[in-house]
Amino acid sequence: MSVLDEWAAANPRSLALHERARRVIPGGITHDVRYAEPFPMAITAASGSHKTDADGHDLVCYAMGHGALLLGHNPAPVVEALGRAAQGFLHAGSSHELEAEWAERICALVPSVDAVHFTSSGTEATMLALQVARGFTGRDRVVRIEGHFHGWHDTAAIGAEAPFDARVPGVPDVLRQVVAVVPPDAGAIEAALATGDVAAVILEPTGASFGAVPLSCDLLAAIRELTTAAGALLVFDEVISGFRWSPGGLQQVAGVLPDLTTMAKIVAGGMPGGALGGAAEIMEVLAVRPGGGVKVKHPGTHNAHPLSAAAGIAMLDAVADGAVQSRADEMAGWLRRELEAVLERTGVPGFVHGESSTFRVAVGTPRPDGEPTDWWRTIGTDALKHGTAPVVHHALQASMLLEGVHLFQGRGFLSSAHTEADIDRTATAFERSLLRLRSEGVV
Ligand code: PLP
Repeated sequence: MSVLDEWAAANPRSLALHERARRVIPGGITHDVRYAEPFPMAITAASGSHKTDADGHDLVCYAMGHGALLLGHNPAPVVEALGRAAQGFLHAGSSHELEAEWAERICALVPSVDAVHFTSSGTEATMLALQVARGFTGRDRVVRIEGHFHGWHDTAAIGAEAPFDARVPGVPDVLRQVVAVVPPDAGAIEAALATGDVAAVILEPTGASFGAVPLSCDLLAAIRELTTAAGALLVFDEVISGFRWSPGGLQQVAGVLPDLTTMAKIVAGGMPGGALGGAAEIMEVLAVRPGGGVKVKHPGTHNAHPLSAAAGIAMLDAVADGAVQSRADEMAGWLRRELEAVLERTGVPGFVHGESSTFRVAVGTPRPDGEPTDWWRTIGTDALKHGTAPVVHHALQASMLLEGVHLFQGRGFLSSAHTEADIDRTATAFERSLLRLRSEGVV
């Protein structure tokens, strides 16, 4: 029996749930990244680094709330804070104390942030960042880097996936008149800024998809200089790297400070939420000023939702001293080394990379030569982002699940709840999976 058939046979309840969902949810999934063959797995419970699927299998989880759960599933401080907040009110419809407390913590932790506005998601945070940059500079054009992911609003969708110059279904192509998509290269960015009408350069400071296509700190510093010289704002999208790379995000590690920072995931403690932060002078365009002046509109029913604020405060308190990040980084480094060793032992071509508490596995592509920040030149941004060919990817995903490990589409996030036993289980699962895929002729 093929690995996909064996996994399907072992997961009848996930199949039943998927069939039910498909009747009312197109495709049966609620986030494109959850697409899986032969069908997606459903979850019924989770705790720490593990979760249980609908058919009762215990799994080591590397999805970790798409990167939101730096403390693992259901951490006590966050769950308790949620309980307390829910006893108060679900929606204030007014200002409330937790929003200021939440903003104060962000300002204290993130080096470039003096002031904050809250959103309901990372997508809204990057959308707001571009509106603030356009409002502040009075310019319309933005520059973004090919393959970098900033959510799914119109500007974010352009150039996020290869081919980067292709029309994106559902998004007006005319928008390209104000959106330049460039490779991660100082020369290309300088050329795009030369027109003198760019409001902002937005990028993932880790490189595309939290480091799939790494960026060097030298390039970040060069972009900082170029944007300052061009009078354009620099926006770091720290939706994933924020509070993970360090308590102050990647900007703290790199020592390069943007004008605006977008945050989500960890900042809201696993609840829906996001934030835009930046220099006071720039963020001031969000303030209502009865006396006049540029005002960028910012409504949003769930901005600074009390439950998200409560969870976010508890999370930020727990990660403020860096110990949680150190533990998760240590586990991730160990996991990356173990997975590399498996590739070497089995002789299956591939490579493992990633920084901080993340990892990604590319099976089928030999490790490229040279610096990771140059890999995009030889392998290409798209191949680096997706790592493994789809047929291998789906077989590997199913095999890892059969072995008790849920990879997040061939990559993953660690948390401070991951243990040595989880790493051992994952390395064993990977070795058994590669041997099986080879015996089935998949790799
Ligand atoms: N920016 C980055 C770097 C992300 O990784 C994501 C989501 O994964 C987003 C923006 C969009 O965030 P959300 O899914 O909360 O809209």
